[in-house]
Amino acid sequence: MKNIIALLIMVFALTFVSEATAQQIRYVRSPFVKFGARYINGQPTITINSFRARLMGPQVTNFFVAHEQAHFRLGHFHQRGRKSIRRIEAEADTYAYRSVSPQSARAASRWFATRPLQIQGRQTHGTFQQRANRYR
Ligand SMILES: [Zn+2]
Repeated sequence: MKNIIALLIMVFALTFVSEATAQQIRYVRSPFVKFGARYINGQPTITINSFRARLMGPQVTNFFVAHEQAHFRLGHFHQRGRKSIRRIEAEADTYAYRSVSPQSARAASRWFATRPLQIQGRQTHGTFQQRANRYR
């Protein structure tokens, strides 16, 4: 009986996770949103700040979009509490560097490396220098 319950839970969990990863991602571009990934009404949604995207250019923007895609593709929403936020964010950067074109990856690494120190990024994502160095 215990085994059957465990099996049912596993099947349910697998169905839920595979559905989430196979689901189409919706993209919302607006100057009024922050870059981010979250579920809105059950649909994976990536919000893109169009103003920042224009400032950063298409190559760097591709990297940030890939970073947000990574959160869905790597199942990060189902790993909260099991992995630290810093580790999740580092994984998303590594995934993004590997999935974008080499030009975009270099542009993103250069973008991080040339940020002024006084506008350091959010600590959850690591320092700009750490984020630049995740490119290899
Ligand atoms: Zn992230």
